[in-house]
Amino acid sequence: MVIIMLGAQGTGKGTIAGIISEQTNFPQISTGDIFRKNISEKTELGVEAEQYIAKGELVPDEITVPMVVNRLNQEDAKNGAILDGFPRTTAQAEKLDEILTNLGKKVDLVINLSTPKEELIDRMLTRRVCSNQDCKTTYNIKLNPPKVEGICDKCGAELKQREDDSNAEAINRRLEIYEQQTSPLVEYYDKKGVLRTETVSTSINRMGKDVAEDIVKDIKNSSIKGDEI
Ligand code: ADP
Ligand code: ZN
Repeated sequence: MVIIMLGAQGTGKGTIAGIISEQTNFPQISTGDIFRKNISEKTELGVEAEQYIAKGELVPDEITVPMVVNRLNQEDAKNGAILDGFPRTTAQAEKLDEILTNLGKKVDLVINLSTPKEELIDRMLTRRVCSNQDCKTTYNIKLNPPKVEGICDKCGAELKQREDDSNAEAINRRLEIYEQQTSPLVEYYDKKGVLRTETVSTSINRMGKDVAEDIVKDIKNSSIKGDEI
């Protein structure tokens, strides 16, 4: 089963993808995490990507697409994957359709997360990420704080703020790119009949983990009924 996480920055795509991944064993493939790992390891790909990421711009497709193809071809993704951060443009979505067709797969479910804009900026500013690249658990100092300030509950490593979350210009640029280039994908996938829109907002007391629980339940139910997952 191939699942795509869609939604603006700060909606909780990564957190929800992480929960679904734990419960289903489909790997979570986060392009942002792969880039950040490469940046911290100073690989050629990381050095190249960093200049775009720091400014909040998209990394060019020549770099991003082969990286995703390579990841989808790994053994753990043979039964499916949860794509978190890809595709982000119509061109990437068309490319993904092609890649999946070649692998005998298709996009089965697109989870479109919707959160009021005023909450998004606040969530990015209050987001903290575990600095251990093998853990990368995300916290929010207001909504989901760690037990000990600044320290990851799961592995004890230091929590950090992402560079592009601490900079108002990069935050605004990312939200602008989302509006212009990524939001058309809502219609793209709606037309294919695979879209599931979920509102995540403190105003209705519905958080990412509630959404993730509902989705996991539905995935498990459909597999019990014998639908292919
Ligand atoms: P966010 O969604 O909060 O911007 P991500 O961790 O998903 O954070 O991505 C961080 C950065 O990595 C993006 O701002 C962009 O520069 C780059 N990136 C991630 N995914 C893609 C993609 N599919 N295409 C191009 N660039 C990407
Ligand atoms: Zn950790």
